[in-house]
Order: sequence, then C-alpha cells, then structure tokens
Amino acid sequence: MRKILITFFSVMIICLGFAQVNTNNTASPSKLERPKLVVGIVVDQMRWDYLYRYYDRFGTDGFRRLIDKGFSCENTFINYLPSYTAVGHATVFTGSVPALSGIAGNNWIDQLTGKNVYCTDDSTVTSVGASKAEDGKMSPRNLLVSTVTDELRLATNFKSKVVGVSLKDRASILPAGHLATAAYWFDDASGNFISSSYYMKELPAWASKFNESKRPEQLVAKGWSTLYPINSYVQSDTDDRAYEGKFADEKSSTFPHDMKSIYQKSRGSFRNTPFGNSLTLEFAEQAFNAYQLGRGDATDFLTINCASTDYVGHMFGPNSIEVEDTYLRLDKDLATFFQMLDSKLGKGEYLVFLSADHGAAHTIGFMQDHGLPADNWHGRPLMDTLNSLLSEKFGVAKLVRSFTNYQVNFDLDAIAKKQLDFDAVKKFSISYLQRQPGVNSVIDFDKVGSAPVPEKLRMMMANGYNFKRSGQVQIILNAGWFEGSSKTGTTHGSWNPYDTHIPLLFYGWKVKPGKTNRETYMTDIAATVAAMLHIQMPNGCIGTVIEEITK
Ligand code: ZN
Ligand code: ZN
Repeated sequence: MRKILITFFSVMIICLGFAQVNTNNTASPSKLERPKLVVGIVVDQMRWDYLYRYYDRFGTDGFRRLIDKGFSCENTFINYLPSYTAVGHATVFTGSVPALSGIAGNNWIDQLTGKNVYCTDDSTVTSVGASKAEDGKMSPRNLLVSTVTDELRLATNFKSKVVGVSLKDRASILPAGHLATAAYWFDDASGNFISSSYYMKELPAWASKFNESKRPEQLVAKGWSTLYPINSYVQSDTDDRAYEGKFADEKSSTFPHDMKSIYQKSRGSFRNTPFGNSLTLEFAEQAFNAYQLGRGDATDFLTINCASTDYVGHMFGPNSIEVEDTYLRLDKDLATFFQMLDSKLGKGEYLVFLSADHGAAHTIGFMQDHGLPADNWHGRPLMDTLNSLLSEKFGVAKLVRSFTNYQVNFDLDAIAKKQLDFDAVKKFSISYLQRQPGVNSVIDFDKVGSAPVPEKLRMMMANGYNFKRSGQVQIILNAGWFEGSSKTGTTHGSWNPYDTHIPLLFYGWKVKPGKTNRETYMTDIAATVAAMLHIQMPNGCIGTVIEEITK
C-alpha cells in the first residue's frame, strides 16, 4: 500500500510538473534573441599589424574597446585574388569569393565582349543628389550572390532596415546588398553624400540638410596638423621622405598640410585626409537617427566603410606620420560613435564587427632604403612587347587586352575568329612573362590545380577566378613588388600577408572577450554573423562559423 501511495504521489508530481511547464510555455514563450543592431565596419586598407603598432597610442574606447573587451581573430586572411576594395567588401558581406560573387576586381574586363566594367556601374539607374549624372549611376546588380544584409531582410520578412555609408560608392553599395533600405556615398564635385534611383527617387530631407551644412569645408578649415606633437610619432618614419606623395602645389610632403586652400583647388583631396572618416561617421550617425536603426521590432544593419585610411595610405605609405595620425584620429571618431550607440541602444545591445577590405605594401623606397627587396613592375611596356612577340608568332595584333588585376586578359574573340591554338598562345605568353624581373610565377587558370606553387596560392587563385570576368593567366610578382611607375606611396592587390592579413574584431551583443590565433578567413565573417543572428547564410557563402567568439 505504501509503495502504491508513493507511486501515486510520484505520478501526481510528474503530472503537475508537466502542467507547470505547459502553463509556462503558453503564458510566455521565450522569444528568439537577436541584437538590436549590427554595425559592420570596414576600415579601408587597414593592415592587421596597425592594431598593435598604434596600440599604446589608442584611447580606451575606440579600437581598444574592441581589442580589449571584444574578440579578436588574430590570423584572418583574405582567401582569393586580387586583394582590392570592391572584392573585399563583397566578400566580407557575402562570405563568397570572385569565382561565385562575380566581383572580380574594382574593374574587370567582360571576357565575352572585351568591355571594361566598373564593379557597381549600372546604366539603368540615375543619380540622386549628384551634380554629375555619372556619379550616381550605380547599383549592386553586378553582384551575383546575396549579402548577409540581404539575408537579414529576407529572414525578418523585410522588417529589418539596412543602410550603407561610405565615401566610396562600391564600399557602400556592395555591403548594403540588393535589398538595402538605402546606400549613400560621397560626390567630390558637390561635396555631398549622394545615392541612386536604385534606392530612392530623391534624397531624404535629413540628408539634404546635412549636405547643405557644407561639413567638408568646415572639417578642412583649420588645415591638417598632427593631433599630438609631431615628435611623439615615434612609430613612424620622419616626415620628409621622397617616397611620400604631395598634394597639389605642395612643395614638400610635410605637416602641416594646408587643406583649406588645397581643397579649393582639388575637391578630391578631401578623401586623402582623416576628415573623410570623420565625415563618414557623422553621416552614419545621421542615418542611424533618421532611420531609427536598432529601435524597431527587428534587428537592423548599418554598414560603414572608413575609406580615408586607404586614400592616405596610397599617398603616403604605411610608415608615414600621415597614416599614423589618420588612425589616431579615426580611433577618437570611433570612440565617439560607440559612445553614441551606447547611449541610444545600451551597451551590449548591439553587435559590432570591424575588419578591412585588404592591407597594403610598404612603399618601395622605404623597403629599398632599408635593404629589403622591393621594386616597381612596369606592366604596360611589358604588355606591348608581349603583344608584338605574339603578333610575330601568331600573326594577330593585340592578342592581350590588358593585365587588369594582375591577370593576362586575352582577346578571346580574336583567338576564336582566327582559330588560334589558345593553349599555344598562353604557353608562349607564360614562358615570356615568367622570365621577366620581379615575376615569381605565371599560371594558366586551366591548370591552377596542378600549378607548382604553394597550396595556399592555388586556393587563392581558384577562388579568385571567374570565367566571364577574369583574365586567363595569373601573374604572381615577387614579395615587395607591385605594378606602376610611381615612386611615391603604395598599393595592394597581391596575395602577400601585407595585403591579405586583416584585422577581425567582434564586440558587443553575446561576444565573449578573447582572441584566437587559429587561421580564419574573410569568408568566415558573413557565416559567423548569420549564425549569431539565426538567419540563413548568404547564397554564395563558402565560409565557416567562428565558434569561439560567442558566450
Ligand atoms: Zn580598399
Ligand atoms: Zn586602395
């Protein structure tokens, strides 16, 4: 009897327990947790080593808020070629690579027509807010896959808002995706942020008002002097190096730069100052307020590209005081921006990730001065010589259209019409090119799988090759070498770690402080953000989720 009673009471307790659980479930089912806002920041041309090169000089609330209180993926690499801006932005937000995304460069040759294509050109749309019609004829239509921002819109039945901001059209349009609420970029001629009819019929009133304030003129009014005493810039080279660029009419490349008068002569010069980043973040804040981002029912997404780091880097090189000063100023601007987000949304309520679209090489002059191998590679005269040799051998002129993106772009039309043996044409060209100074290897994409180069390069080439938009042969230069004849400044585009080792920091909502030295890739960013948001990963994504970052 005692046993029966115990069993009876046990069953009662279990039943009551179930009843309790059921009541709880029907009364208040727990909701899917998502952050109020995702802010994806791409710092243009930011090498990974800048995080630590300037670490001691950063304040506690900008980059160091992300490094010290966020999660850092210390060995994140770009896993395709070529390492340019449009490709970087497309990859960060799609988790895809040129082979699939179609964004094969900033520019590429349409291999079927021979036409030069700019990544975000779209003749079917019109400018909104620009003084010149051409500046706004832009859209994401050349991007063949979805972005993580598109997937967020799809996942929330379009309740999420997505806004892109950058000085550069491509760095605003590609991250914001096909389904963007809006994308804005900067027009030099008018000094305005503009858009295109792909997104809107006319600029919203808040944007016009911002433009009317003539903020660029205010920002350059005091010129560009260093933020701190110039002798404190001990991480950088001296200020008067011959391999630094000069603004129009400047006699030397040294501080202070008289940006007020330079800007009057050359509107484009604004981009090459740290004030371009200040303007971008100020406009991003205006957009954040106007669209009430993070304050609706669904998670919103703000994409920001800080482009001036790239323009300053190209002009002065990684070891210049100008680059250091640009990062110290960006650090302050980021701190202001994060504090604004804290006060409007609350700490821990938003997710930030910060990365770069590519890095940059040291300037050639700097490398040579210090006895390191580096030099200019003169592609143009080499192409002319190759074309005349090909003409002698195969009887057809100009068989090579260009060396765009360090790829030999052949005239496929002419080769087909004249019924040339394409393999023989390629073999002849490769044999000639790989004997030239500064050339490390020249690889036929048809044989990329068995190319006698390290596995890492084979993977990067295969990921970067798009049949309709890439050249047919890849040129790999020696480390430190890059194309061009300029003796000042620098560039990027190669496979080398200085161009492809990028920062990757996550901070805020559900992010655990810490770091990993495990090798991760640019393609993992979109996969990780999609996983955190519980949304489908973009439809061309080849990345994997970085599991370490979440609590
Ligand atoms: Zn870039
Ligand atoms: Zn660049």
